[in-house]
Amino acid sequence: MVDIPVTVFFNEEFYAHEQAPFHPESPERLRGIVQNLKTNGLWDEVQSSTGKDADHLRLVHDNDYVEFIRSCGECSITMDTSVHRETYDIALLSAQCAIDAVRHSKEERAPSFALTRPPGHHAGPDYGMGFCYFNNISIAAAYLLENGDGRIAIVDPDVHHGNGTEHIFRDRSDVLYISTHQGGIFPGTGNVDFVGSGEGEGYTLNLPFASGCGDSTYNLAYAKVVMPVLKQFRPDAILVSFGTDGHYRDPLASLSLSSEGHLLLVRKLLELSESCGGRITFMLEGGYDIPSLSEVAAATVGLFRGVEVPLRFTEVVDNSCLGRSVVEHCAKNASEYWDL
Ligand SMILES: [Zn+2]
Repeated sequence: MVDIPVTVFFNEEFYAHEQAPFHPESPERLRGIVQNLKTNGLWDEVQSSTGKDADHLRLVHDNDYVEFIRSCGECSITMDTSVHRETYDIALLSAQCAIDAVRHSKEERAPSFALTRPPGHHAGPDYGMGFCYFNNISIAAAYLLENGDGRIAIVDPDVHHGNGTEHIFRDRSDVLYISTHQGGIFPGTGNVDFVGSGEGEGYTLNLPFASGCGDSTYNLAYAKVVMPVLKQFRPDAILVSFGTDGHYRDPLASLSLSSEGHLLLVRKLLELSESCGGRITFMLEGGYDIPSLSEVAAATVGLFRGVEVPLRFTEVVDNSCLGRSVVEHCAKNASEYWDL
């Protein structure tokens, strides 16, 4: 196995963010990941962000919205997403963590993994929701575009559609956004027939799967749509919304990816990143079953480093391509813009 240097970006401050007692997006998620990385000897290349620049938030968010999160004190922005006095600072640091990780990948031409918390892909230009305040991955993509890159690909395997990311980039052709998610659950967006708008038509692809879809469906989706489109787009960097809530153990959704199924996708993206100088950055989004979240996160870092992390959750539930019709539907739509 090869040893590719991968740097983990993490700040202790992320533990201080707490929505509410017993909330699924808990600091324990991060503790589980860090513990698993340590157990597997993968906690040696770790960097923390020091500075915080609020101007970066305004690359994708409206000033009024940023100001609201900064100044509201204690409030709820949706039923399950609360703002506390420390939220702004920690969410700003999470966005900085994303930027530092992509900058590192650019400078070192090597992969990075940002343990961003709070997560970000549901946050849009002027709203937060779904445990997200600032859209870390979109801010990082916009930062790269501001600093000389021409094309950024965002791949989003989190089980929830990244409505915020789609909203931010749906009119643009310099960001390719591909989401695989469970259809019909929160946030209700991500229809297979939405392919972007205006200049961005063809640069958004959605694969909304039904309950039960897992390993074989994702393999087909990556073979037929995700990888061919990514290759043709020729991104300068690949950013991944790393959510493991598509795992069969996850309590918030009902897809059926196994840990090995997640790893197969990571392997394909890693191979492709060789064509953009090793520039791939994973950023933490969802994943609410801590044992499988931490297992897949550690195994992802291990995959780069040539360290085999033992997997416990390897049951293959979907071995008959339950989501084949969705893949075919998406491929048909995408073939208007891409050679498939
Ligand atoms: Zn999610």
